[in-house]
Amino acid sequence: MFYKQLKTQLPQGTIVSVGEGEKLLEKLVQGQDFSDERCYVVGKTQPRKGMIYEWPTAIEKTACNYEYIQSIWPEFDYYFQENDFYIGVQTKRGCPHNCCYCVYTAVEGKQVRINPADEVVKEMRQLYDRGIRNFWLTDATFIPAKRFIPDAIELLQKILDSGMKNIHWASYIRADNLTAELCDLMVKTGMNYFEIGITSGSQELVRKMRMGYNLRTVLQNCRDLKNAGFNDLVSVNYSFNVIDKTYDTIRQTIAYHRELERIFGADKIEPAIFFIGLQPHTHLEEYALENNILKPGYNPMSLMPWTAKKLLWNPEPLGSFFGEVFRGSLFTSLEHKSS
Ligand code: SF4
Repeated sequence: MFYKQLKTQLPQGTIVSVGEGEKLLEKLVQGQDFSDERCYVVGKTQPRKGMIYEWPTAIEKTACNYEYIQSIWPEFDYYFQENDFYIGVQTKRGCPHNCCYCVYTAVEGKQVRINPADEVVKEMRQLYDRGIRNFWLTDATFIPAKRFIPDAIELLQKILDSGMKNIHWASYIRADNLTAELCDLMVKTGMNYFEIGITSGSQELVRKMRMGYNLRTVLQNCRDLKNAGFNDLVSVNYSFNVIDKTYDTIRQTIAYHRELERIFGADKIEPAIFFIGLQPHTHLEEYALENNILKPGYNPMSLMPWTAKKLLWNPEPLGSFFGEVFRGSLFTSLEHKSS
């Protein structure tokens, strides 16, 4: 995300890769010309204009070779000592959506590249044979759009057929893209935690943030998932600093959350409140530049308080109110600690 700024901060000759760099590494190792890759060399070449938006190479990702990784990385075994956390497995890359604050579409691209289901299962199997039972499907989002539902079904069916017992998985999910068959497979394959990032319970704000969610569909799909037998934890991400937030939209968000509690049970659903950061190459950055919140040529890596304050993105009218809430909770927690 900061590839333009890095050219003044890294030693001459450093190769700055934008994005995944798999093909770049291969070419480097083989001593081939890599000037057409998404990269530049500090002090020698300049990043091409709009390099961040160039499409990543359409590589079909095969399973990680854990035997090899284990042989070259002494710390590898540390991660396999306990089985109390999830180990990441990627099933696809990219996201076609336009959520205004998100950098995934720039980092991984808007074109979704599905990893072959057999390769994903092969990777899980290697971990399973090393004692791992919890997997985090580390995709930008597990079901990016309706047209990828058949791929998700194929993968989950193959996981089921693989015979791996007592496994669990978790992921970030677009809950507007669920079907009865998918819900059933999710439960049968051991999904025991998922996150949905609706940001607000106000449909109007979700539209303004360009998230493409229909909140009613999300609720209906959550009911279907519950009816399919899902009885585990759900985390719902909300942000209080979205564009045009008002007291009324916060009330709508609370009402929405109460409905989710009714579906999953209040003890099963946790609201995760996070503040959207303003990042380069996003629609939110464009918005900030158009509205004079940021000045053209600003340095997104600057740690100066006057820049950092803007990048933390807490617009009025609620910015000051949340400042007060934060200050109150900070003092309460300090008092609690000292007593
Ligand atoms: S759906 Fe998720 S990954 Fe995709 S653009 Fe929106 S926030 Fe980013």
